Amino acid sequence: MICNLVVPQPLPSEIAAGYAGRTARLNGYESVAGLYDHLKASAAERKTTSTASTTIGLLAEMCGMSCEAFTVAHTLMPSNRAVASYLSDVPHGAEGTNAIMRRSAARSVARIWRSCPTCVREDLGFHGHAYWRRDHQLVGIVYCAKHGSRLTVVNDRAAAFHAPTGVEGEVGGAQAEFDPASRKVLDRFADISYALCDRCKPFNVRVVVAALSEKARELMFRRTPPGRDPKLSDFALALMPRQWLAEVFGHLAPGPRGHTSIAALDVALYGGTASVQAAYALDLALMFESGDAALTRILEIERRGVPGGKQATKRGKQYWNEPRAEELYVRCHGSHSAVARALRIDRRTALASLTTRGLPNLKYGDHSKKYALGFAQFVEGRGSLEEICASLALEPLELQAMLRSAAKPSLKLVKRILAQPVSNGGEKVPTPTALARSPRLKCEIESPIGSGAGRP
Ligand SMILES: [Zn+2]
Repeated sequence: MICNLVVPQPLPSEIAAGYAGRTARLNGYESVAGLYDHLKASAAERKTTSTASTTIGLLAEMCGMSCEAFTVAHTLMPSNRAVASYLSDVPHGAEGTNAIMRRSAARSVARIWRSCPTCVREDLGFHGHAYWRRDHQLVGIVYCAKHGSRLTVVNDRAAAFHAPTGVEGEVGGAQAEFDPASRKVLDRFADISYALCDRCKPFNVRVVVAALSEKARELMFRRTPPGRDPKLSDFALALMPRQWLAEVFGHLAPGPRGHTSIAALDVALYGGTASVQAAYALDLALMFESGDAALTRILEIERRGVPGGKQATKRGKQYWNEPRAEELYVRCHGSHSAVARALRIDRRTALASLTTRGLPNLKYGDHSKKYALGFAQFVEGRGSLEEICASLALEPLELQAMLRSAAKPSLKLVKRILAQPVSNGGEKVPTPTALARSPRLKCEIESPIGSGAGRP
């Protein structure tokens, strides 16, 4: 298929860049770029599929593997994309994910290349040559999982072109020292990182956050940004070697707004998306007693499913009885943010709870009730979407999104919204205090929230 090339099979856990280097050497190229040029030209001639436009796709095609299988076995993507909020159901390396591939899979391990001296010796004996193993290049990995020996570090951008036996880069350098306690966390971190690499698709961030949040509550770590409980990042700083943390998180110095990159450890507990992927594995390693326990918990939650935002499982059931949600929705003129403010809950929790009930967010921009009106007109068949949007000056895409997320009861409620008076032409929604004063809602709102806040 690929003319004039000697194509070796990739070895077990061989990293893509190293495999490209080995193939390039075998075919007499002076650098990997020469091989890629050849593969690109050959792919262009044959007008191959879209994944073949990435370097990973080209290599997969070259050795006759599917792009998905090659990505899972030979790239850092399963680790760089272990936890995802976007397209988390799409397998690594799937067709049509070129942008993700370029960002996560081919992202080279930069200048740092690691190898285990014992693995190198064994590979020389068994395969006839040593090679760069993917599992040694994962972020934060310091020891060989098979031999327990410290990995040799080479600081050379061109190392991938050569075998580990043939590099003359700067070897070693000062390395982080681990005491028994931090070594235990490091071993759990490695276990979790490898387990994540065995998966063909990422975990949804909500599933992982649910597991983290649950464990953090049990261990009394801080789960909301302002709070008195100790921060998990402070625990990490006290326990783990600074040098290793700096390697994993990039740097530890505070940025322009006073945030350090290690705050990603706390952000994951707060329910946000961590800026550093390794933060999830380290959070799990710091709190769970073993890598197995952490993964088992995550898989349990994944099987059970996390319907809404981070607290929707517990809080959702406890605080959202249907009549109250609908009552509030009407009083807040169909604005999800207003419902969240009135209940003093996270906006995403409100959004998830209301959307699963088929109650769309009718607030877009500050067009008071215009969308509610357009919504009602469309559902009652008083014109096409275009006609209604034109007559009321609405954004068709927004109205479409509202209609898509709506279910049966919403029309009834929307009509109640339209029947309500609008004061001062503006969209006055009840404030928490106004709601608390309202006799009808008082017992329904204050008691569950109050008892919720008081819970440990
Ligand atoms: Zn080894």
